Amino acid sequence: MAQTPAYAAPSAKAPLVPHSVPRRDPGPHDVQIDILYCGVCHSDVHQVRDEWGGAIFPMVPGHEIVGRVTKVGASVSKFKVGDLAGVGCMVDSCLACDPCKRDLEQFCQKGAAFTYNGTEMDRKTPTYGGYSTQVVVTERFTLKVPTGLDLASAAPLLCAGITTYSPLRRWNCKPGDRVGVVGLGGLGHMAVKLAASMGAEVTMLSTSRAKEADARRLGAHDFELTSDPKSLKKLIGRLDLIIDTVSVEHDLNTYLGLLRTEGTMVLIGVPTTPAPVAATSLIFGNKKLAGSLIGGIAQTQEMLDYCAEKKVTADVEVIPIQKINEAYERMVKSDVRYRFVIDIASLKR
Ligand code: NAP
Ligand code: ZN
Repeated sequence: MAQTPAYAAPSAKAPLVPHSVPRRDPGPHDVQIDILYCGVCHSDVHQVRDEWGGAIFPMVPGHEIVGRVTKVGASVSKFKVGDLAGVGCMVDSCLACDPCKRDLEQFCQKGAAFTYNGTEMDRKTPTYGGYSTQVVVTERFTLKVPTGLDLASAAPLLCAGITTYSPLRRWNCKPGDRVGVVGLGGLGHMAVKLAASMGAEVTMLSTSRAKEADARRLGAHDFELTSDPKSLKKLIGRLDLIIDTVSVEHDLNTYLGLLRTEGTMVLIGVPTTPAPVAATSLIFGNKKLAGSLIGGIAQTQEMLDYCAEKKVTADVEVIPIQKINEAYERMVKSDVRYRFVIDIASLKR
């Protein structure tokens, strides 16, 4: 057992402060990773502020981890010392239940071990995330990070990347499809890049006019301001698929109206209050409202390999860990272009 430096929230809504957390000595199936970069997800903010309830403190957030392997257990075959490695939102699951067998470990019936704000499968040992210098994870949940990617820009693929890639694949995004993306933040900008890389015609739906040029540079063919009803009117009945990344309460019925007959809107943002949906918003047009949670480990590896091939990574603002509380404030104000990533070297100084 080693103590490793970290940043933690001591209690709900408190600013993050320097802290240290225990990491186990690697067992036979474990990979020990020196963390290089960790992305900052809006889910980190929700959980530090206990907006979803049941938060465990002290909390070390961070589930977009890229680092280098420093030790491997005797039975590890996929990794050797010096390899790049990634860790996303999960570090273990039962591997025996129906969802686990279907490569959907995030829905493990025993409850997946999430990377932080949870416990290992023993249901006792708390998990601590990537705002720290080191992590020890079982090989089965450790991802291969392809070489040739900028590592800071690759870190957000471990959550923002897979969370947007997975629904695009599930709804078979293909050339010519009209895909709307609501909210241009960390998840939204990955959705735009990935949908465009799959050949879709992408419409950005944003509250921030100032982000229009960026949206187009990221691959959007069209940009509409959601606060302007006239702007949205042209889109009624037009979109095959909408990916909604908004983190706060908003009216879903308006967006459902933009779907084509039999179109689907997928919620991936997690506002803390329920949203009313009119039955008629779905009935007229045989429309579907769906949700999507991250993605399984196999699909996360597929996404990393896809991103390496297509040269898709996040647009990042690299920060020292000492700026994390400021980054949270800016994120809440939608002032991030488009993902903060912590340079973990700043924690070792
Ligand atoms: P983010 O970077 O803060 O982006 C959220 C975007 O939502 C903002 O940039 C903004 O875009 C838009 N927005 C913010 N306030 C709004 C408002 N009042 N009305 C309309 N739009 C607003 O957050 P993120 O990291 O992408 O995460 C987004 C959400 O996804 C969070 O709730 C997070 O917890 C959740 N999440 C879910 C999963 C999953 O598996 N389903 C995984 C990771 C994260 P514009 O400025 O363009 O309007
Ligand atoms: Zn996340």
